[in-house]
Amino acid sequence: MESLEEEANRLVKATYVQQGVNNLRSRRNSLKNLLIHKKLPLTGFDDPTIEFVLTELAMMDSNNFSANAGVGEREGRVFSSLVSRRHYHMSHGIGRSGDIAEVQPKAAGSSLMYILATCLTKHALQIGGAKQKNCLLLPLATGMSLNLCLLQMRKRRPQADIVIFPRIDQKSCFKSILTAGLSPILVDNVLEKDGSMETDVAGVAKLLSKYGDRVLCILSTTSCFAPRQPDKVDELAKLCKEHEVGHIINNAYGTQCSLITKLVNRADAVGRVDAIVQSTDKNFMVPVGGAIVTSSDDAFVTGLSKMYPGRANATPVLDLFITLLSMGEQSYRGLLEKRSRLFESMKLSLEGIAIKYGETLISSPRNTISLSVTLKELDEDSIQPKEEGGEGVAEKLSQKQLAQKSPSYLGSMLFQRSVSGCRVVSKSSKVTKIESTEFSGWGSHATNYPFSYFTAACAIGATDEDVRLFLERLEKVMSKTHSVVV
Ligand SMILES: *Cc1c(COP(=O)(O)O)cnc(C)c1O
Repeated sequence: MESLEEEANRLVKATYVQQGVNNLRSRRNSLKNLLIHKKLPLTGFDDPTIEFVLTELAMMDSNNFSANAGVGEREGRVFSSLVSRRHYHMSHGIGRSGDIAEVQPKAAGSSLMYILATCLTKHALQIGGAKQKNCLLLPLATGMSLNLCLLQMRKRRPQADIVIFPRIDQKSCFKSILTAGLSPILVDNVLEKDGSMETDVAGVAKLLSKYGDRVLCILSTTSCFAPRQPDKVDELAKLCKEHEVGHIINNAYGTQCSLITKLVNRADAVGRVDAIVQSTDKNFMVPVGGAIVTSSDDAFVTGLSKMYPGRANATPVLDLFITLLSMGEQSYRGLLEKRSRLFESMKLSLEGIAIKYGETLISSPRNTISLSVTLKELDEDSIQPKEEGGEGVAEKLSQKQLAQKSPSYLGSMLFQRSVSGCRVVSKSSKVTKIESTEFSGWGSHATNYPFSYFTAACAIGATDEDVRLFLERLEKVMSKTHSVVV
């Protein structure tokens, strides 16, 4: 830096140069501090600083060496400059053929980026309360990452082929079992009097005894649609420890919620948890594509990273790296707090609307991300005449009015009004088959859920405006489908 300063002084006034050089030095220090502390910066970096960091790292990769003579079959060549820019000129990906976490000799910069991204993610998870010390970033979405974990699990218990699956009606996690060539056994949830659904721990215990050595693991789920509650992963973990079977927790969007994070920590402390899988996009506001596997079990994570066949695309990791640098510790804490405040206010408002139209907010006290409201008024048995000859509501309604009295109509009205993410679950005993497993009343997490309902979530990054507009549109729609009772 000294010689640059001296040379520049010959051309531009020294005091100006001094200021410029100080700025250069401070940018360069951002990278140095990152390498020293390996933590989120307290306040996020501005975009020029992030681009500076990325450029410095990229220049350490062999595809960007100005005098490089590449004679291998994979030299990180990129035809399109648009594509090259999209990747900040890093094109070697991450990992080495035998291990995704291994340093790539041709790409010191990309390798540093991967290591730093892992450290920053670990720090962010710690800020959220997570206690697990191992963390592996995978360039695969949650379902595929669960699949890899199941395959890793299988290495531990090669003779076992059964995965016990407390029912959650989400296709990717269920399919992760099938894709691994394993046999799922569904455990229906216990329907509580208040309408919430809880893990059938006794049911799981029975299956563990019944199938013994054939059981590979339990695949439990924390973050889910209300009124299903997060699985009682602590009790399941105790069972796994007792029966010496594996336990993988699908924590898809759980890291944004302190209650779920505490629950997962407790499971890890009191019983057996081999791996916890969470989505990068659902927790850290990046495009879909990555997942984070955490664990207190060093060997599981090492085994998992060694099992990954080949190198991998760095994009999902790079997106996360950039985002965490841009966010910084303070903004991340702010987002977590904001979400939990917004959830509480959304809950109160939804409850108010529900009561106004004769419905109820279904209780699911341990689910603090997703909320659900009954749509009993739109169920057929409340519309059709109850007894022969009796004058039911149906006879008083025109065809058009009758068509509006259905849960799916309410769903489509909301969709037309650009409400996304609100799911309507119609009461149904229709059987949906995924390969050879039958789900009765698919979407409701239960075989005979007693009424229709809709769900809505308050996830990280949701704004006051999102919630305000949703509630406003919901009111408009319900004023058509329902009558005001209070
Ligand atoms: C989002 C989600 C998944 C996985 O989805 P991907 O598209 O594979 O990331 C799995 N389980 C649950 C509960 C989810 O919410």
